[in-house]
Amino acid sequence: MDDVKTPSVRDPRRLLKRMRELMAVQENAQARLDHLTAMIAQEAGWDVCSIYLARQSNALELCATFGLKPESVHSVRLQPGEGLVGLVARRARPLSTSNARAHPAFSYKPETGEEPFNTFVGVPILRGGRMVGVLTAQTSQERQVEVDEIETLQTVAMVLAEIVASGDIVESEEMAGLDVRQSRPERFQGGAYSGGVVQGVAVLFEPHVESTRLIAEDPVAEEERLDTAINSLRASIDQMLDSGRIPFGGPTRDVLQAYRMFAHDRGWMERLREAVRRGLTAEAAVERVRNENRARLMKASDPTFRERLHDLEDLANRLLRHLEGGVNLADLPDNAIIIARNIGPAELLDFDREKLKGIALEEGSASSHAAIVAKALGIPLVGRLEGALDRAENGDPVILDGEFGILHIRPQPDVEETYQERMRLLSERRMAYAEMRGPAVTQDGVRVGVHMNAGLLIELMALDEIGADGVGLFRTEFQFMVSETLPRLSAQAAVYKSVLDAAGDKPVVFRTLDLGGDKVAPFAPSTKEPNPALGWRAIRMGLDRPGLLRYQMRALIQAAEGRPLQLMFPMIAAPWEMRAARDMLDREVRHAKHAGHAIPSDLKVGMMLETPGMAWALEHVIDTVDFVSVGANDLMQYFFAADRQNTRVSDRYDVLSPSALDLLKRINDVCVAHDTPVSVCGEVAAKPLEAAVLIALGYRSLSMASGNIGPIKKLVSGLDTAKLGTWLASRLESPADSLRPLLLEAGEDAGLPREAVENGRAI
Ligand code: PEP
Ligand code: MG
Repeated sequence: MDDVKTPSVRDPRRLLKRMRELMAVQENAQARLDHLTAMIAQEAGWDVCSIYLARQSNALELCATFGLKPESVHSVRLQPGEGLVGLVARRARPLSTSNARAHPAFSYKPETGEEPFNTFVGVPILRGGRMVGVLTAQTSQERQVEVDEIETLQTVAMVLAEIVASGDIVESEEMAGLDVRQSRPERFQGGAYSGGVVQGVAVLFEPHVESTRLIAEDPVAEEERLDTAINSLRASIDQMLDSGRIPFGGPTRDVLQAYRMFAHDRGWMERLREAVRRGLTAEAAVERVRNENRARLMKASDPTFRERLHDLEDLANRLLRHLEGGVNLADLPDNAIIIARNIGPAELLDFDREKLKGIALEEGSASSHAAIVAKALGIPLVGRLEGALDRAENGDPVILDGEFGILHIRPQPDVEETYQERMRLLSERRMAYAEMRGPAVTQDGVRVGVHMNAGLLIELMALDEIGADGVGLFRTEFQFMVSETLPRLSAQAAVYKSVLDAAGDKPVVFRTLDLGGDKVAPFAPSTKEPNPALGWRAIRMGLDRPGLLRYQMRALIQAAEGRPLQLMFPMIAAPWEMRAARDMLDREVRHAKHAGHAIPSDLKVGMMLETPGMAWALEHVIDTVDFVSVGANDLMQYFFAADRQNTRVSDRYDVLSPSALDLLKRINDVCVAHDTPVSVCGEVAAKPLEAAVLIALGYRSLSMASGNIGPIKKLVSGLDTAKLGTWLASRLESPADSLRPLLLEAGEDAGLPREAVENGRAI
């Protein structure tokens, strides 16, 4: 072998140390990149080192070089896939060859003067998983490039990505038009799960490593930090799995099993350790490995593989939190709009409410618990925005439209203007609703009770302000779903008491625990059911494991402190279930009396009518109940056999079909005949056209999310009940699939106000 100079990455840490020193020097962007290339070439023993950065046009521009002709800087550009550099960029993977010219992808650029250099290595410069450039090294000697050398260049590239993205380089004149920080406006269409429109700044809900904390002072201590964090990560996963308590809103058991496997995966750990040994901080090492995984994820189309990489990314995020590199939930900028893959309701409640303005999720669904909490907090939430996290940067201006399910990242001025106008209109409308605090009465003098659906204490604060007649449904399971452990009797009673205190003279209907199906409490043992919506849920669970239900009844009686109390049972599917639940309650009342406690001055016990079967057995149970509440969300899912959680079928059938209306009419007629109050508390009650029809069918009480109360009161005030009733009567036996088109066409002729027609088009 010739006595030739072999690359000597003897000490990659020295290289990083020198990079850090260079970063501390004040100089212009070009000089900084030039010094970096010279230093990397020198420290790592290469003849050439070059930095290519991606422009917004996607071309890769030679931005700095040591060893190639200086005049080629900013003049040589390669398209993605063009030449070896373009290939590295397209694959987002390192590439090396001992004979560059013989490589099939080689593309000759005479202005660079690279003819003498045979050996080539290129590594992608990745940031947030996006390819922002390519770092190359070349040497004239024809030789094999060692894995170790590639590893060092990848470590350097990780630091480079952050240097390049930090203010002074991206904002410099020479580098104008680089695609290092994302700058293009992006628009995502997802699902609107909590209404409202907000403008604010993006906060990525994933740990982010500061660019000043990339290079370690003491690699030995750093490796120890990494090991400690990995150990505590493993312990926390083991603990979650072994305790049987899968955190609410977090991963499922299967995913945790996968985490456990990855957390013990030698390849993953070795990659992390290796990055630390090369001089990165533990956080930067995690970021580097996460970046590489993410780049692969963006290119992968196989769903199983993508799932695996997603799990790995979650694991990396968890590890960063163990290293204390996480987002500080309380430390948000003003007008923060959180962008996350998914979020649990408990986390949502932890944010500073003054500053949190909106939530954009890559996943999530309309009935996800985060969406329910967001509605309760009055914060817009948009879900199913796939890829949003990759396209946003912390601090980006964003607009979140919770009415139409749209997220704008870095919007253009004209989009901003349009939205400002919309926000102004929405706020005007809100003010108009605020003036309608009095009772809701139709044009022909029919009084309609408009109640609120709530699940959090804070929602009660708005009860008077929005002019609700009371709380028609208080979802008690909420407190359970956000709690890691079973809430004690005293904690339950305290919440119920505060709810009653906050409601004052207005009535509150508490619904007993409706767990099971998709509503999981962290402390409840997870049981996998083939058909959760048809499974062991709600009252079924309450009667089979009476401890929990009894406990809750006791807490409600205690909280009433001698005041009137109304409670109802969810998902009663047969009369005996209602009787059994009522017996249990009577026993609890006797128990309280016996113990000398105050008992409710007036106890009203209701049944949620949520199964079609119960609608036909109503006459057999009505004498055991004081009121009926139609849970139309569940009732319709069972009536049409269409899973309300499954977006493919949830909107397939229309509640305004004659058959569904016939069912709803029957329920109301039986209740009226027995002088039993009845109300509707599903989503249909919140939709203007549907609400109008319910009123015309005879319903006199509706309950809905607080944000819908104003619009529904407005609707009621414009409705001619008698006219619509007459119109409907002759059409309930129509063969039409839905009466919706006919209603929209009839409009005023059917007694409908403008709101019902304007908002009644979509199901
Ligand atoms: C319903 O089913 O209509 C209802 C109000 O209850 P939930 O949405 O909580 O199941
Ligand atoms: Mg229900």
